[in-house]
Amino acid sequence: MTRTPLIAGNWKMNKTTGEAEAFVRALLPRIAGHTCDVGLCAPFTALGPLVEETRGTGVAIYAQNMHEEPSGAFTGEVSAPMLTELDVSGVVLGHSERRELFCETDKALAKKVPVALAAGLEPILCVGETETEREAGDTQRKLRHQVQEGLHGVADERLAEVVIAYEPIWAIGTGLVATPEQAQEAIAFVRALVGDRSPEQAERVRILYGGSVKADNASELLGLPDVDGALVGGGSLEVESLATIVGAA
Ligand code: PEP
Repeated sequence: MTRTPLIAGNWKMNKTTGEAEAFVRALLPRIAGHTCDVGLCAPFTALGPLVEETRGTGVAIYAQNMHEEPSGAFTGEVSAPMLTELDVSGVVLGHSERRELFCETDKALAKKVPVALAAGLEPILCVGETETEREAGDTQRKLRHQVQEGLHGVADERLAEVVIAYEPIWAIGTGLVATPEQAQEAIAFVRALVGDRSPEQAERVRILYGGSVKADNASELLGLPDVDGALVGGGSLEVESLATIVGAA
C-alpha cells in the first residue's frame, strides 16, 4: 500500500496575512513539481487569502482548531461551516498546545473529528505523550486513550480519511527529536490501534511524526516505514527550511 506523504506546516500564532501571502509566493516556486502533499496550517485571519493564493497549486490550507457546534454562543470560536465557506481543506484538532493551554479534552475531540469529516474537512488529529508519561512507561496507554477517543465517532470505513499526527509533547518546540526507533515504534502502535477497528483502513491511514522536524533531520524520520509525513512547527516558518523538508519527502 502506498500512502502519499503529507508535509503540513503548523504556523501556530505566527504570520500576519501579509506575511503569510508573501511566504506562499516565495514557497511555491521552491516546491514546484513536489510529489508529496503539502499543507499550511495558518491562523484563522489568513485562511481566506491563503486559499485564494494557493488555488490550483496543490498546496492545501488547514485551520488550527474548530468548534464542534455549527454556531452558537461560543465567543472566540470558529465552526466547520465557517471553514468550509472559505474552501479550507482541513483542520488540526487536539494539538498539544490546545490541550494544555486551552483545556481541549478528548471528549470534545470525539465530537470535533466526525464533525470535521462530515463537513468535508480533513482532520489532522494530534496525539502524544509527555516526558513524564514516557519515563513512566505510559506512552502506549496514553496513545491508546487519545486515538480511541478521537476516532470514536468515526465510522470504520472512514478511518483513513483522518490524518493522525504522533507528536511526543517533549519534542514539540524543544529541539529534542524522537529517535527513529521511538518514532517508528509509536507510529506503528498508532497504526495497530486503527487496525483494531479496521485492518484495511490501518493500511491506508496516514500517520505523521511531529516534534522538532527540521531540514537536517527530516530525511531520516520520513524514511521510516510507518511515517507518512510530518507536522512541522518551527521548521515551517522559513521558506528554505520548509522547502527542504518537502524535498526530503
Ligand atoms: C507542532 O507545532 O506541531 C510542532 C511539531 O512544532 P515543532 O516542529 O516546532 O516542534
